[in-house]
Amino acid sequence: MSTRQLKIALLGNPNSGKTSIFNALTGLRYTTANYPGVTVEKKTGYLAVEGAKEKIAVLDLPGTYSLVPRSLDEEIVHDILLGFRLDTETPDLLVIVMDATNLERNLYLAIQVLETGLPAIFVLNMWDLAKSNGITIDLKKLESWTGAACVATAASKNQGIRELKHLINKRLKDLSTTPHKPIPALQIPAVLEQEVSEVGKLLEPVLTNRKEAARGEALRLIGDIGMSSPFYRVETVSAKLRKQVVECRKRLDAAGIEWDVVENECRYRQIETICRDVVHFQTSEKFTVSERMDQILTHRVWGLLFFMAIMGVIFQSIFTWAEFPMKALESAIKNLGSFTGGILPAGQLNSLVVDGMIAGVGNVVVFLPQIFLLFFFIALLEDFGYMARAAFVLDRIMKKVGLNGKAFLPLLSSFACAVPGVMATRTIENRSDRLATILVAPLMSCSARLPVYALMIGAFIPAGRFYGVFSYKAVTLFSLYFLSLLTGLGMAALFRRTLLKGNQTPFIFELPPYRLPNIKSVLRTMWDRGKEFIYRAGTIIFFISVILWFLASYPKDPAVEKNYQAQRQQLSVTLTGDALKTELANLERTVSGDRLKISFAGRLGQAIEPVIEPLGFNWKIGIGLIASFAAREVLVSTLAIVYNIGQDADEKNVDLISALQAEKDPVTGKPAYSPLVAISLMVFFVLACQCMSTLAIVRRETNTWGWPLFMFTYMTILAWVGSFLVYQGGRLLGF
Ligand code: GDP
Ligand code: MG
Repeated sequence: MSTRQLKIALLGNPNSGKTSIFNALTGLRYTTANYPGVTVEKKTGYLAVEGAKEKIAVLDLPGTYSLVPRSLDEEIVHDILLGFRLDTETPDLLVIVMDATNLERNLYLAIQVLETGLPAIFVLNMWDLAKSNGITIDLKKLESWTGAACVATAASKNQGIRELKHLINKRLKDLSTTPHKPIPALQIPAVLEQEVSEVGKLLEPVLTNRKEAARGEALRLIGDIGMSSPFYRVETVSAKLRKQVVECRKRLDAAGIEWDVVENECRYRQIETICRDVVHFQTSEKFTVSERMDQILTHRVWGLLFFMAIMGVIFQSIFTWAEFPMKALESAIKNLGSFTGGILPAGQLNSLVVDGMIAGVGNVVVFLPQIFLLFFFIALLEDFGYMARAAFVLDRIMKKVGLNGKAFLPLLSSFACAVPGVMATRTIENRSDRLATILVAPLMSCSARLPVYALMIGAFIPAGRFYGVFSYKAVTLFSLYFLSLLTGLGMAALFRRTLLKGNQTPFIFELPPYRLPNIKSVLRTMWDRGKEFIYRAGTIIFFISVILWFLASYPKDPAVEKNYQAQRQQLSVTLTGDALKTELANLERTVSGDRLKISFAGRLGQAIEPVIEPLGFNWKIGIGLIASFAAREVLVSTLAIVYNIGQDADEKNVDLISALQAEKDPVTGKPAYSPLVAISLMVFFVLACQCMSTLAIVRRETNTWGWPLFMFTYMTILAWVGSFLVYQGGRLLGF
C-alpha cells in the first residue's frame, strides 16, 4: 500500500449543491448560494472515514456545464481532470454532484467526465426537491447505463450524507481491485469517428497519464473554436495539432458535418435515451405556482418595478431596524472610552488609546448592524431564488450597455466588496467583457461606503418622510446606490464602445427553483461576508487610526500651548460661574483647531484644500479624504480622531454626529457643513476608487499595473467632477 494521501474532487453544474455536499463531508462552512458562479477558486477540506487511518482530501471545484474550457472556471476543471495542472494532481475519485430535478442538463457534464476514464460516482442531490416535484429517478438503471455508482442526497438537510461517505470509502478501497465499468462510447457519424481517432493519436503523447481521455478531448478540440487551455498554448505542442484540426474541419465541412455542434447533438440524443429509461415525471401543481410567480417577477416592467420596490424596502429597514442596536453600540463604545480615559493617567498614552484607537475603530464598528442587515437581506433573497430573477430582469439592461449576463454576479458581489467581485469575473470567458466588468466593479456601492453614508445622512439629512412613507434618509441612501449602479452601467457602455470593443457572447440564463430560505445558511452567508468588515476594523482601520492619531497630534507648538495657558488664566481671573464655563469651552474649541492646524495631518489637509474647496470640502474633510484612499471607512475614523484630539474630557463625550453638526466656519460663523456638502461628499465616495485592496486584486487579475492605474485615474476624475457638479449646481440652485 502506498502512503500517499487519497484525494477526491467534487464537480458538477453550478448551483447543484457541490458546496453544500463539500461542507457536509468536511464539516467546513463555505458559502452556498442559490445562483450560478459562486465557487470560483478551488477549495480543499478533509474527510474522515471510519476505519481509515488517513483523512481523505476533498476538493470543491468550480461549477461548470461542460468540459469545453471556455471560461477560466471551466479551464480549471478541464485541466485538473486531464492532468494538465502542475499544482494539482489528478484526483483518485470524482464525485459528480447533480441536481436531481434536472438530470438531463446535469448529465451532459457528468458523461463527458466519465469518458475521461477517471473513476467517478454520481451524487443525485436535491433529492427532496425532485420528490416534491414528482420526479423519480431509477438509480439502479442509471448505474447500468453509465457504469457509475449512484447515491441520492439532500445536502442542505444532511440526508444521504452517511451513505455517500460509505460509497466514497468503498470505491476508494476497491479502486485497485475492481476497475470501474467504462461508459458505452458516444455514437457519432463514421466520418467524424475517423477524424477523432486521427486527432486522438496526436493527443496520446500529450495526455501521458490520461490516454483514455484522448477520444473525448479530440472531439472537443474539433468542435471547440480554439484551444484555450494554457496547455495548448505551448507552441511546440499546438502547432501540429492545430494544423491537423484545421484540416479535419475542412474534410468534415465537405462531408456536410457541422463539427461545431455535432457533439452537442449526439450527446443530447444519448442523454435523452438514458433519461427516457430512468426518469419518471408526475405532473405536479408546484411548477405552476413558481411559473406564475416568474410571470410577474421576470416581467420586463413589473419585474423591474418589483426589484426597485424590494430594494427600497431593504434600505428603509436598514435605517429603522438598525437604530436600536446602533444606539446600544454607540453608548457601549462611549462608555469604554470614558472608562479607559478614567483609568489611564492623563497624557499622550491616554490620548492615543482614547482618541486614536477607541474613537477611530469604535466609530466604524458602530455601523456593523446596518452592514449585517444589508447582507442578511441579500442572502435571504439569494437563497429564496430571487436574485437569479433579478439578474434576468437586469440582463436586458446589461445587454444594452454591452455587458455579458455573467457580469451580474460579480457586480452584485461588488455591492458587498469589490475584491470578491473582481475575482468572480473569472467566470466571464470573453476578455473585453471581463475587463469592462472589472473596471466598473468598484463603482458598485460596497459595504465600506456604508459607514460614510450613514454618518453623513445621520448628521445632515433631515428626518421626515415623502408622502409619509419613505423617509428622506432612506431615499437618499437609495439614490446613492442607484447612482452607483447607473454610473457603473454607463461607464461599462462607454468602455465597451471605446477601449474594449468586441463581440458579445450570449449567456443562457438558468432560473433555479424557488426555495424556502434556509435560515441557518442565510445567517452563515451574512456572517461570512460581514466578518470581513469586522476583520478590517480590527486590522487596517486600527492601524491607520494609530498613524492618523500621530499625524494629527504632532508636532506640537509650545507657543500655542503657552498662549492657551495664559488666556485660560486670564479668563478665570475675570469671569466666574457659567460665564467662565462657556468662555473656557469656546477657547478650548479654538485652540484645538489651532493645534490640529499645525499638526502633520492638518498641514496635509490644508495643502489639498485648494483642490477640494470647489467641492465644498474644508481642510478637515481633506484629512479624511487623503486617509480614506487607503480604505473608505477610514474617513469616519479620521473625522472621529480629528474631532476628539485636543478636546477636554467632557467635550469628548459628544458623539461624532453632533460634533459635525456643531462645527462652525471660522470666517462666517455659520455651520461648516450643510446638507449640500454632505451630499457632495457622498457622491465623491460613490465614484472614487478609494481602496488599496481593490487595486491590488485588479493588478493580480489583469497581470499589469496599467489597468489598476487606469481604474484609479478615471474614477478619481469622475469623483471630482461628480462632486463639483453637485456642489456648484446645488449652490446655483440656492441650497
Ligand atoms: P454549488 O453552486 O453547486 O456549490 O451549490 P450550493 O452548495 O451553493 O447550493 C446551492 C443552493 O442549493 C443553496 O441555496 C443550498 O442551500 C441549496 N441546496 C443544496 N443542496 C440541496 C438539497 O439537497 N436540497 C435542497 N432543497 N436545497 C439544496
Ligand atoms: Mg459552490
